Amino acid sequence: MSVNYAAGLSPYADKGICGLPEVFDTPEEVKAKVETLAQLIRDSQYMVVHSGAGISTSSGIPDFRGPKGVWTMEQKGETPHFDTTFEDAKPSLTHLALLQLQRAGYLKYLISQNVDGLHLRSGFPRDRLSELHGNMFVEECEKCGKQYVRDTVIGVMGLKPTGRYCEVTRSRGLRACRGKLISTILDWEDSLPDRDLNRADEASRRADLALTLGTSLQIKPSGDLPLLTKRTGGKVVIVNLQPTKHDKHAHLHIHGYVDEVMSQMMKLLGLEIPDWAGPTLCENSGGDTWLLPEVGGH
Ligand SMILES: [Zn+2]
Repeated sequence: MSVNYAAGLSPYADKGICGLPEVFDTPEEVKAKVETLAQLIRDSQYMVVHSGAGISTSSGIPDFRGPKGVWTMEQKGETPHFDTTFEDAKPSLTHLALLQLQRAGYLKYLISQNVDGLHLRSGFPRDRLSELHGNMFVEECEKCGKQYVRDTVIGVMGLKPTGRYCEVTRSRGLRACRGKLISTILDWEDSLPDRDLNRADEASRRADLALTLGTSLQIKPSGDLPLLTKRTGGKVVIVNLQPTKHDKHAHLHIHGYVDEVMSQMMKLLGLEIPDWAGPTLCENSGGDTWLLPEVGGH
């Protein structure tokens, strides 16, 4: 399937501010700001990262409101360019850096607005991750809530039935659930998944550092979550080339490419960027990881 996310959603007029010009700090400014960020991370007790589509552009998946984003191009009557399919996309340096930050104990919780599945497929532990807008690779039983992570995209959006049924067995294995499986991808008017949103809300209130990467913070409620961290005395750091909705609340705003910022930051923290062995699933931070094709029906 091609990455035709836009065409799968209902038409919706208010897509926010699209196509704002990008701002670039000089290399010296980026270096100095990343040093400040690394120190904030070392000093933090509970860092939460908020990721948006800007962290997947280097994986070949366009963002939404950047100069060549899906909605920006749509407003111009043009179609966005995709360099890959969701199945073939590889996690970016930023995805893999986040994995290592979690393993090293710096990153306590990750909140993503991305539906491309790259955090999950990078092997990021699911119990430390909220995917607020759904995941192209995940379908869910509408009866018992069991989620199935597939190794190909579900192909249906807007919480609609996928045509498959739940295989969970109940009543001592005598009876299968057989509930309808539905897509986890939200359409514009759908409300966010309760469990993921509650955990994201709780982590944002608890955090003393909110680091936002590649998001214009325009979509509610996801984009407002970093403000909960500020309200409870924490700091907000924004890494984004375009201006964001909450720039005035930021302790620090780095106008640089996320991969470049993360690369410099990992060096300062003395952490390696891990290799990626292929689509990987990790259910919880203390548990095993699995290569996805081996657990297709997990
Ligand atoms: Zn079920």
